[in-house]
Amino acid sequence: MPTPRLPSGIHVFERGWLSANNILFTGGDETLLVDSGYCTHTQQTLSLVEKVLGNRSLDLLANTHLHSDHCGGNAGLQARYPSLQTLIPPGHARQVEQWDTTTLTYEPTGQLCPKFTFDQLLCPGEEIWFGNTLWEIHAATGHDPHSVIFFEPVEKILISADALWENGFGVVFPELEGDSAFSDVAATLSLIGQLNPATIIPGHGRVFSYTPEILTIANRRLESFVASPVRHGRHAVKVLIKFKLLEVQQQPKSAFIEWAARTSYFEQIRMRFFEDVPFAVWIEKMFDELVAAGVAKQEGENLVNL
Ligand SMILES: [Zn+2]
Repeated sequence: MPTPRLPSGIHVFERGWLSANNILFTGGDETLLVDSGYCTHTQQTLSLVEKVLGNRSLDLLANTHLHSDHCGGNAGLQARYPSLQTLIPPGHARQVEQWDTTTLTYEPTGQLCPKFTFDQLLCPGEEIWFGNTLWEIHAATGHDPHSVIFFEPVEKILISADALWENGFGVVFPELEGDSAFSDVAATLSLIGQLNPATIIPGHGRVFSYTPEILTIANRRLESFVASPVRHGRHAVKVLIKFKLLEVQQQPKSAFIEWAARTSYFEQIRMRFFEDVPFAVWIEKMFDELVAAGVAKQEGENLVNL
């Protein structure tokens, strides 16, 4: 299916998986960027934005949610554009104020996110101008209990963050922490079905045309996780390791194992789903599975990103 065309004034920077996509709006008096990528890619984010804006400044920055791959560039953008106004969903506003890196998950997942500040909230149920188009703010629980997604009802464009991708959706983090959230994923997918978008700009991957088949794929994936939360746990561990691999590109396997041992999320997941297997055996097996899946390779001592 060809990539759908977007109205002028909307620029999508399709990034990889370490950095979420960024969406730059230039159509109105005020420029606005949705999501800022991962911190190690900040220079790339700045140059993508600067290349489109030229001498214009970036006025507003809106985060769909506060995972490190969506807001890791916030600090760099705030430094580059001192009058930038930053908008975040309300759920973790206090934790951002206090810079509570545990609740914000950067510490327990072993991910990096430089401290940033915010100015305004993106409250579900309200509307907001992105450039010269008016967008609805919707809550999108599941992947992240505090995530929002944005919908433009005239052109029927959805900015879906990690709630819906062309082939599924992001890890359901609350499920790893002992909260049930698969039903939240189902509710969010159902909301998206009701919005019935024409075009989706996902948090990762290319822009795509929405069809009911996209929801079927996501629902099927959800059903497989509901049937086997352990499968979801195993998937999540591999996603977290791959994310680190994308960040560092390569390092000795022993360094990875040490990193995993001091990154509390891994032990938390093991205790929940794989309690019978000792940590060292379990984490080694996860690395082996990533290599077997062809997303990493072992070169001597080193584990290398593929
Ligand atoms: Zn996310």
